Formats: sequence, C-alpha cells, structure tokens
Amino acid sequence: MPKPKFSIISKLALLIFAVGLPLSGILAWSIHSQFRSDVTLAEQRAASLADAIAASTEITLNQTRTMVMVLAKRLSVQAMDRSHCDPFLADLRQALPQYANINVMNKRWEFVCSALFSDPNVITPTIYPEVYEKMKAANDLVMSAPLRGQLTDKWVVFAAYPVKDATNKLLGAVTAPIDLNALASAIADKTLPTNAVFRIVDRSGYIVASYPETERIGKLALGVAATAISKKSGASIERGYDGVERVYAFTPVKGSDWIALAGLPTEWAFADFRRNRNQILLALLVVLALATSFAFIMARQIARPIRELQQDAEVLANGRLEHRSQVVTHDEIGQLAATFNHMAQTLEANDTEHKQAEISIRHLNRVYMVLSQINALIIRVPNRDELFKEACRIAVEAGGFRMSLITTLDKNTVKLTPVASAGKDDELMAAIKALLSSSVDAPRTMVARTIREKKAIVSNDSQNDPCVLLGKKYADCGVRSMAILPLMVANEAIGVITLYASEIDFFHEQEMQLLTELAGDIAFAVDHIDKQERLNYLAYYDAHTGLANRSLFLERVAQYMRSAASDEHKLAIGLIDLERFKNINDSLGRTAGDALLKQVAEWLTQKTGDINVLSRIDADHFAIILPEVKSAGNLTKLVENLMASFLEHPFRLNDAVFRIAAKVGIAVFPDDGTDADTLFRNAEAALKKAKASGERYLFHTQNMTAAVASKLTLENQLRQALDNEEFVLHYQPKVNLVSGRITSAEALIRWNDPRTGLVPPDRFIPILEETGLIYEVGRWALRKAIQDYLRWRAAGLAAVRIAVNVSPLQLRNRGFIAEIEQNISIDPHAAAGLELEITESLIMADVKHSITSLQAIRAMGISIAIDDFGTGFSSLSYLAKLPVDTLKIDRSFVLDMTTGPEGLALVSTIINLAHSLNLKVVAEGVETDEQSRLLRLLNCDEIQGFLFSKPVPGEVFETRFLTPPTGEA
Ligand code: C2E
Ligand code: CA
Ligand code: CA
Repeated sequence: MPKPKFSIISKLALLIFAVGLPLSGILAWSIHSQFRSDVTLAEQRAASLADAIAASTEITLNQTRTMVMVLAKRLSVQAMDRSHCDPFLADLRQALPQYANINVMNKRWEFVCSALFSDPNVITPTIYPEVYEKMKAANDLVMSAPLRGQLTDKWVVFAAYPVKDATNKLLGAVTAPIDLNALASAIADKTLPTNAVFRIVDRSGYIVASYPETERIGKLALGVAATAISKKSGASIERGYDGVERVYAFTPVKGSDWIALAGLPTEWAFADFRRNRNQILLALLVVLALATSFAFIMARQIARPIRELQQDAEVLANGRLEHRSQVVTHDEIGQLAATFNHMAQTLEANDTEHKQAEISIRHLNRVYMVLSQINALIIRVPNRDELFKEACRIAVEAGGFRMSLITTLDKNTVKLTPVASAGKDDELMAAIKALLSSSVDAPRTMVARTIREKKAIVSNDSQNDPCVLLGKKYADCGVRSMAILPLMVANEAIGVITLYASEIDFFHEQEMQLLTELAGDIAFAVDHIDKQERLNYLAYYDAHTGLANRSLFLERVAQYMRSAASDEHKLAIGLIDLERFKNINDSLGRTAGDALLKQVAEWLTQKTGDINVLSRIDADHFAIILPEVKSAGNLTKLVENLMASFLEHPFRLNDAVFRIAAKVGIAVFPDDGTDADTLFRNAEAALKKAKASGERYLFHTQNMTAAVASKLTLENQLRQALDNEEFVLHYQPKVNLVSGRITSAEALIRWNDPRTGLVPPDRFIPILEETGLIYEVGRWALRKAIQDYLRWRAAGLAAVRIAVNVSPLQLRNRGFIAEIEQNISIDPHAAAGLELEITESLIMADVKHSITSLQAIRAMGISIAIDDFGTGFSSLSYLAKLPVDTLKIDRSFVLDMTTGPEGLALVSTIINLAHSLNLKVVAEGVETDEQSRLLRLLNCDEIQGFLFSKPVPGEVFETRFLTPPTGEA
C-alpha cells in the first residue's frame, strides 16, 4: 500500500499553522504598530528635546547678540581704550558665566580690552581674521567655528559684532567666546535619561556642543549629525560612537547655521514597548505550544486508530479474512471499526460459503468425470474383469479418489472377494482381504452391510467412525472418507464399489446421487456384459438344448471338411427331422415339445459321445457330423443302427412314454459338395425327399437327378410368372408402440400362381436366388413398391415409408446402387418413401463392402433396417459400425420372450443395445397382446405382426390403413 502523500498529522499541523499564521500576523502587526507609535513617541520626545536645545541655544545667541550690540554702542568701547573697558567687561563676564571671555578687538584684530586678561602682549591678535572678514562682510553678528580659546583654553565659538563710530566707520569688534561647555551644561540641566545625548553642529560639520561627550566638541560630526546638516529637521534610530542605540531628532537653531540634535537611548525610549512585547511574545509562545501539543494529541487520537484501521484493512486485503480490528473509540472511527469488522465478518462468511461451494463443485466435477468416462467405458469393454479394472482405474485417475475397490459376492458360497482395485496400498489390501475372508468379521463389514441393505453407505469421517473396522489403517493410507455403493443387478446386490477419498466429508447428497447413478451404470454394464456373453453364446448355440446352432454347425462342418480333405477320407452329415413333432407340440403343449427336444439332444450326445458333432438346426431338426466315413456300406450300417436305437428309445413326456420316429437326409463329402453350405443344402434336399418318399433315410446322391428335374420345372414356371406379371406385393404395416400409429409398411412378395393360388416367398425365393432370377424380381419389387408409394402420395393419402426386402445377391451385385439411384430418380420424394431390409447374415459376410454400399444408399436418403436380427450374428461389436437406422428383432426372439425370463432378458438386452447405438427397434412377428405389452414395457419402438395386421394386398392396405375414415366407421 503506497504511503499517503499527506498524513493526517501533517494536515492537522497545516491546519494549526493556518490558524496560527493570521493570529501571529495580527499579533505581529499589533506589536509592530505599537512599536511604530513608540518610535513616533520617542522621536517626538527626541524632537522636543532637540527643539528645546535649539530654543535655549537660540536664546543664548540672542542674548549674545543683544549683549554685543549693547557693548558695541557703548562709547567706552568705541573709544577702544583698555582702561575704559576692562573692568566693565570683567564685571559683565562675572554676570554672564556662559561666556568664556568678553573682548573688544581693534581693526587689526588685536585685543583692546578683555574681561579676563589685561595684558595685551599675551594676545596673538591674528588668529581670527576669517571671523573678522566674515563679520565685516555681514556687518552683523557672526559666529566662528568652535575652537579652543587661546586665553581660556576652553572650547568656544566666537560671536563677533562690529563696533562702529558715529559715522558708521568700522572701528573694531566686540567678541564673546561662548563657553560651549557651559552652553551644554545649561541644557543638560534638564532631566535627561541616562545615555541621552545632544549636540549642536554647525553647517561646516563641526560639533559645536556635545553632551555628555565634551571631548567631541570642535571635531567633525559623523553619522546622524552629518546627515542632519543637509536636512532641515528629522529623526532616525542609530547606534552612537559609544555603541548605544538611540532615537535621534534634529532641529535647526533659528538665527544661526547651527543644528540641534538630541538622541534618546532606545533602551529607555522603548522600555515599555520591549517589556510589553516580551510579555506578548511569551504569551503567544505559550499559547502556540499549548495549541500545538493539544493538536498533536488530538491528531494522535485520530490518526492512531485510523492507522491501525488501515493496517487492519491491509491484513484483510492480504486474505486473512478472520482478522478483526481491535480499535475501540467512541466516535466515528469506532463506528468505522465496527463497520469494518462487520464487513470482514460478511466477507469471511461469503468466502467460506464460496470456498465450500467451490469444493463441492470440484467434488461433483470429479464424480462427473468418473461417471462420463465409465459410461464411455461400458460401450467398449468386452468383459467383467476389464470393466471392473477400468472402472477402478477411472475412479482414481479421473475422479482423483485415493483408492477404489470393487468387491463381488459369490451367490453360492456367500463369499466376498475383492476383484479389482486401483490406487491400492498392498498392506491395506491384505488387511481388507483378510477381513473379508474372515467368517466372523466379514458380515460386520460395511461391504456386507451394503449388500444386505442394498443401499449405499457413507462414512464421511472414516478415521473416527466406529463402523469402519479398518479406520486406523485407512487413515494411514490417507483415506478420510468413503462411500460404498451396491452394484444392483435384477434387484440383487452382486457386489459393491467402494470409493475412498482423501478428503474428510467428501460424500454429500449430490455426489451420492451421481455415484448411485455410476454404480447403477456399472451394474447395468455387468448385466449387459453377462447378457452379451449369453447373446454371443446364443449366436452359436441353441440355448434350449445347448447344442451348436446352424451357423456354428456349418463352421464345424467346414473344419471337419478341411481335416478330412487333408487326411483324404470322407465325412458325412445327416439332417434329422423328428416326425410327429408338431403333433406333440399341439397336443401335449410346448413344454412337452421343449422337453422332447432336450431329451433328443441328450440322447444324441450320449450316443455320439461328442457334443461338438451335433447341432439343432431349427425347431425339430437336428444335424450330426460323422467325421470319418470309411465306406458307403459302413455309413449305411451306422445310420441304420442309430435310427433303430433312436426309435426304440423311450422319451418321457408328461409322465408318459413316447417313441419318436425320425427321417434323415445324408450328404457325403466330397461327393455331394465341397463346401459346408452345399453339403448342408444337399443333405436338406435328401431329407425333403425322404420325407416325401416314405424312406426313413436317404443319401443325396440317390435323388440328385430327381431334385434337379423338379427344380428346373419350378425355375421355368417362375420365369413365366415374371413374364406374365404374376408376382404381387402385399403390405404389412409397422406400428409405433406408443402412439399406435402406422409408421411404415413392409412389402412382401407373393407369387400368384394361376394353378395353385398365392405361393409364399419361402417357396420360390431360394430358386430365384439360385437361378439369378432374383435380380429381375428384386428390381420389379423395388419399382413396384416405389410406384405404389408415389401413387398413394399423389392421391393425397398418408403414405408411409415402404420397406423392401433385399436379397443378399442383390446387394452383392455391382449395379445395385446405380439401379436404386435410377429407381428413385423418377421422383424427388421417392427416396424418403423407401427403406431397405437386409438380413444381418448377409451384411456380416462382407462387412467392409456392406458398409460402403450401405453408406451410399443412406446418402440417397433411403433408410436401412437390419432384418432377422439375432439369427446369424457373429459379433455384436460390428453393429456399432454399421450405417443403419433400424433393427428388426427376429420373430423367434419375440416368441421366446413369453416362454421364460431368459427370452425376455434377451429381447431387453437387444433393445437396450440398439438404443445405445441410436437404432430404432422393430419387433417382428408380434401375434399376441402379451407380446405387445412386454415389448412396450421394454421400450421397443415398433411392432409388426399378425396382431395388428397380416400382409395384405396393396388395395386393401390403401383403404384400410392409408385412407382416413369417412363417416361413421
Ligand atoms: P421376413 O423379411 O422376415 O418377413 C417377415 C415374414 O414374417 C413374412 O413372411 C411375414 O408374413 C411373416 N409374418 C409377419 N407377421 C407375422 C406373425 O405375426 N406371425 C408369423 N408367423 N409370421 C409373420 P413371408 O411374407 O412369408 O416372407 C418370408 C420371407 O421372404 C421374408 O421374411 C423375406 O425374407 C422374404 N421375402 C419376402 N418378400 C421378399 C422380396 O420382395 N424380396 C426378397 N428378396 N425376399 C422377400
Ligand atoms: Ca423382411
Ligand atoms: Ca424378418
């Protein structure tokens, strides 16, 4: 803080000075004016003294004049005879002692007679010729300069007056030397103060008279006396020869060229003034001293608390908000101090609040970080272990927690096991493990409590919390508070996540809300991973029997084929169809049907001794690989034995024994096909034939010719159908589960065979694909769907997007994209009315190519749905990469949904997964209200199925679903 330019003290001093200045001015002025008047007074006194001296001198001169005039007129004098005048003059001199002598002089300026001496020889008469000359010229009384009388040896001035005879002829002169000492003493008679002086000076500058310094008579005057000569009268203050300061005044002596000068010592003249002045000055000094010290004390009184306050403010400004001012005064400063303290208190309170808010925001942010990173994690981690490990790591790294630990509960052994941790301390970890494995202590732990109570437990001061069993050990590791959150899956705590914070009092409501969400997300991910594992399992296995499914079976066939090829032996596959299975299902119920399938699978497993050679292909179809076939005969024998014992086997269903017959179709590698698909299809064909022929089993080779023949006829018929335009599209609506509105429709092809009526697509699509007719028919279907859509649109109907099924072959075809482009180019609205349904197996076959094609299609504004989702997936992770809009859950999953919790969970997982990838979910084949209700609960977006409507011809679709109801409906 910069020093103030003017401190309060200096300002107060200035104030005092400002008040004192005029006061001292007034005082000085009054002293001065008194001095002035005293000077005037002294001057007046000196002047009157000078006047008096001048007056008495004048009198003396006039007396002298009168006396010499009278003498000059006397005859005795005119006679110039000593005998006549000496005695007379002596008498006269006796009476007038102020004259040193009285003389009569002749023309030669010789003494004729004298009051003092009669001996004329003593006289040197030539010493006054200039006086005599002056007198002759003036013809009147003249005075000489002071001189020392030769006869008297006294300082004198000669007064000379001409003596004339009756004819006015100059005879001589009467002279009277005036005794200057006497002149002075006459004046000095007046009572004069000590050190007073006076002088008489003549115009030539000689001192005529002087008191008391008679020795100066006849000398040239200096100083004031010298100035006085040039002036008529005046006054001044000066220091004299003796060093005494005096007030001088001078006055001319009338009738002469003399000047009278009087000097009064200032010491005497100003005595009163000096005394007064000193008293006043003393008083002033005392007053000033008092005022100054009073002001100083006051200033200190004001300045000290202010300075203290200023220091307090500085301390406060430096951030020590708890600081309070100790200033207590009963004035405004005291109030200021109180206000200051109040302000500091408010600041401190605000600051504390602010800091707390900041801390809690920081805490929340940390938790947010953890939450968001864990959410990102959930999508990518493939398994539980990694999920736990990563979650713990994120909590410590992103969340800044001191430590994190995930403990899981084994449902069977009821054991708690720490499975993942981060930021751990080995010693502490060992202690935690020991505690959790102790059968006595484990149930008392907070972990166990959290699992029991299924809700989070917080200890915000773990060091002093009796509930925290390892409180001391935690404290040693820098843990101050902890939160234990249950990981809830299906309403059971499968474990807990514990977060350890190094701050005391970390976990508050908001943090806990987020952390609860976090635990929920982790639990969800656990659940999700479990189900995904299950889903992956389902992708390869038949969940019901535990046998490989069709795709896994085909993979295995391919594997066996490779080893058979390299070992140069044959292998065979057999497809088994259970007879009467539909009857069992219908009459005994699905449970019985399911039980039968399970028992068949068990029987087969037991018979072959290797579950890996078996598969359940679909509902009542099983498949088996015979990896090594030595000869045809051998194979036939094997099959016959197998079938015989199968037929004999008693299956127990609903407490009854059933014997089940089966039909088998067999294909042999490499004779009936060199790849798994062909071999399988040929086995299928053999089975079909067996079923139609009444044979219990058939080898493919045996009916090859017949099969080809029948296929050829069908192919021909289909070609004709295309030419005759016998194909039609039926439309089946898709309905939004929330709004109940129709959102789109699927175009499903039918062959209107003039001989047999409508043929379902399953019967002819494979042939179309095999023969390549599918390209043409597919093109037709696409065109037809767009035409219908545009027609409805043009007619002002509420036309909906039409989904067209695309065969794998079509998509693989190079010209497909261009073909679509051409089809939609007929109308700018065409693309918006079109969706393509593509089976997932097809997409997965060539992911890279599929992605580029799909992207091109989507870029046109056409949306894409994955059809039959769940039937052929090899990896769910690809799903995230595919540029698709909709996921259609295969009908089989919808069916399984109502048969047990497993099925429901599966559909739920698919829906959640799809939603997490921002895909719309449509459930296919919804036939019952129950299914619809469940799907709605699971947040499925749309349904399609007989429940709402079967596929219907275009005209029906138009009137039933697109035309707004008219009148009363
Ligand atoms: P998809 O694409 O899975 O079509 C759904 C099938 O389920 C349709 O059989 C439909 O009639 C049927 N369906 C709909 N709701 C229900 C229900 O509630 N219960 C039951 N049980 N079935 C229901 P559809 O019409 O027989 O078609 C069979 C398959 O033929 C289609 O399966 C599709 O893969 C293919 N397909 C149909 N039209 C075309 C087409 O124009 N081109 C191509 N390439 N394939 C087509
Ligand atoms: Ca479809
Ligand atoms: Ca489908």
